[in-house]
Amino acid sequence: MSKDILEKIKQQFQKGLEDSGGNLEKLKELQVKFLSRKSKLNQLLKGLKDLSPEEKKEFGPLANKTKQEMEGEIIGLIKELQQKKDLEKDWIDVTIPGKEEKIGHLNLLTKTQRDIERIFTSMGFEIADGPEIENEYYNFDALNIPQSHPARDLWDTFWLKNKDKNGDNLLLRTHTSNSQVRYMEKNQPPFQIIIPGKAYRYEATDANHEHSFCQFEALVVGDDISVANFKSIAEEFFSAFFGGKIEIRLRPSYFPFTEPGFEFDISCKVCGGKGCSTCSNTGWLEMGGCGMVNQKVFKAAGYKKNQYQGFAWGFGIERLAMMKYKVDDIRHFRSGDLRFVKQF
Ligand SMILES: [Zn+2]
Repeated sequence: MSKDILEKIKQQFQKGLEDSGGNLEKLKELQVKFLSRKSKLNQLLKGLKDLSPEEKKEFGPLANKTKQEMEGEIIGLIKELQQKKDLEKDWIDVTIPGKEEKIGHLNLLTKTQRDIERIFTSMGFEIADGPEIENEYYNFDALNIPQSHPARDLWDTFWLKNKDKNGDNLLLRTHTSNSQVRYMEKNQPPFQIIIPGKAYRYEATDANHEHSFCQFEALVVGDDISVANFKSIAEEFFSAFFGGKIEIRLRPSYFPFTEPGFEFDISCKVCGGKGCSTCSNTGWLEMGGCGMVNQKVFKAAGYKKNQYQGFAWGFGIERLAMMKYKVDDIRHFRSGDLRFVKQF
């Protein structure tokens, strides 16, 4: 053994390092070649034991030092490169534009219904519920619309084949008014409720008519509820719903379950009552029917005649949404067309 051999190994190792060009795989190969058990250097170290004590003293520390230096150098390099590689793998390019997350939102109809519920509950109303599959009694008879009554023709009805357990005919409710007597049977006045929900009519569809639609019924009953109460509540509701000051106008009309009954109009919010194309230059928009509850309906609910007074009204929720959001066709609501849904 001579110093030259060690020097030569060291030189070859250094050249290998330079040739590797900082390539991690090449460095690992170099590590095996020069420092593994079978490497020339390790063979030399193994052979130390066969040398004379003097030679051992001379070469032993030198060979070990050479090995330590080489190991220290290559291990340091490999570690450094490995860390760099790991960092590159985890690197995040913060300049790449973000991916837009599509978040769903409430359907216009749900939103409108919730707005209506919020306004009424803020006025002290409670929200009640009723069945969509109804019997003939609650949908018609209890509301003073007996079978022979010509007014029945106003409500084209989806009849079901089944009957209820009392043998009464079943139908899809034609209005939310079906829940009036149901509620009154279980509750004593005074109360003020709204009943939102779906209703169905067996009729041809067009821009203003759907076979399935949403309504809400408002019912206020007490000892001395009058038309004046109705007018003030309606004005407060419509002003809150549309924004601004809305006025109410009543016109006499007829509904079997009211006495007296009215059609009512609200002041045109587009022109403020001056007259425009939306209101056909009348300054008013037709809203729907309302009236004081017919005592015959109270009787059906089990109340004594003339003990209470109250008013009721029912509106299409789609119609309110159409007016507020300028939707020109009621059929859009159930079309499932995302181009419509995404607008609101
Ligand atoms: Zn107008």
